[in-house]
Amino acid sequence: MLFGDSFRKLPKVDLHVHLEGTITPEMAKKIASRNNVIPSPQLMDSSGEHFRWSSDGDARHNLIAFLKAYDDATSVMKRREDYSDITYDYLHRAAQEGCVYVEFFISADHGAMVGLDYKEMIGAIADGYEKAKKESGIEMRLISTCVRHYGPEAALKVADVTRGYHHPLVTGFGMAGDENAHTIADFRPAFMASGLAGRTAHAGEASGPETVRQARDILQVRRFGHMVRAIEDVKLMEEQKSILAVPEVCVSSNIALKVYPDYKSHPLRRFFDYGLKVVLGSDDPSFFNTSIGREYKIAHDHFGFTETELLQLSRNAVEEAFVGEAVRGQLLDKIAAHKH
Ligand SMILES: [Zn+2]
Repeated sequence: MLFGDSFRKLPKVDLHVHLEGTITPEMAKKIASRNNVIPSPQLMDSSGEHFRWSSDGDARHNLIAFLKAYDDATSVMKRREDYSDITYDYLHRAAQEGCVYVEFFISADHGAMVGLDYKEMIGAIADGYEKAKKESGIEMRLISTCVRHYGPEAALKVADVTRGYHHPLVTGFGMAGDENAHTIADFRPAFMASGLAGRTAHAGEASGPETVRQARDILQVRRFGHMVRAIEDVKLMEEQKSILAVPEVCVSSNIALKVYPDYKSHPLRRFFDYGLKVVLGSDDPSFFNTSIGREYKIAHDHFGFTETELLQLSRNAVEEAFVGEAVRGQLLDKIAAHKH
């Protein structure tokens, strides 16, 4: 039985989390006040303790409402230290839950909204990481991410700035945002231009199995943000297994956005039992009232994952992380050293 301290110590990995999605309402208020910014009146509920966004619609409408709230939360940030603080804050909290490695989706477009260019944004994030790493040893890498609903031209600009400023912490290129905006093929130039070997794209969340196939074939990704709706296509499942596809599964996000109505209908367990190389992510923890610790706990409590199976999820994530071999080896050692 897993509980308390022994569960906390189980090494965890968050392989799918958007940096601005980790801003807590408390942090948003703190940053807004020091920047003399009034947050959007729609952003918080009346208690001021939770972000407010509609979840009454279907998955696509919920995703769009959520993406608007995400941009509103980002808009309280104005300075370099804001990015450093949110990075430190999340890594510190994740490390307290036993998380040993985080891969953040970062967005040059959101950095620009804050008033920082790409280089300044990376520098600020690196500062927050250094501080957290000194305290807990947690490791972090970054996935420079284009936002699908900002369009292919904006995506190409993100790829260009990523390629133009090499930073050792930026190890992957990704795509997030509204899966139904534009076509996957529109973003192929951006993926080809980024110059990074690590690639992941959101697909098979708000859109069906076909987008998973397209992301795989057109963008040449093997890691997929969500991919959960691949379960609707038996042939696709076989194909995905044969290429060792990695679904980055974020259960609380899928439930909050109503991709699935409940745990029972969510395919996490079926993916794992089928032999897919499943990893977990908290996605936008502050908006979906979760954390990476909670995602592991949900896998245990609601999907019957044993301690050995949870460790397998962590091992999968480290094996598929966009990180150099030396750090990968250290992380695998940490997982192997975990005492049952
Ligand atoms: Zn995501």
